[in-house]
Parts: sequence; structure tokens; C-alpha cells
Amino acid sequence: MKFDECIKCSSMNYEVKSATITTSSPISSFIPITKKELFYIKICIDCGCTEIYNAKILDKYSKKKTSKC
Ligand SMILES: [Zn+2]
Repeated sequence: MKFDECIKCSSMNYEVKSATITTSSPISSFIPITKKELFYIKICIDCGCTEIYNAKILDKYSKKKTSKC
């Protein structure tokens, strides 16, 4: 998994972790629909700035990028 530079300090030194977070849709309050989604957590080693990416969307995005080559 490749990420861009840090949005805060432009550093390329980062650590990537994956986490499964249970999300729920706020639209249906009577029947809460919960689902587990995978997220990538990018932590900048230099400044500690943390970004969370939805794995589903990120994988789609990276596939689009690579198909161009
Ligand atoms: Zn940083």
C-alpha cells in the first residue's frame, strides 16, 4: 500500500496499520444496520499526524491508478 506524503509536514516516513471498525448507518435508527469495514491508518513517524482511509475506496482508487500504466 502506497500513500502520499504527510499532509502536515510532507514527510514520507510513515507507518501503516489496518483496523476493522464497526460502522452503523444513521439513516435507519429503528433497525440499526451495522457492518464491519476495513480501514487503513497512516501514522506519520515525524509529526504523528494520523490519517484514516477506507480500504474499500482506497483499493478501488489504487486499482484505477495502476490500470493507467
Ligand atoms: Zn507528518
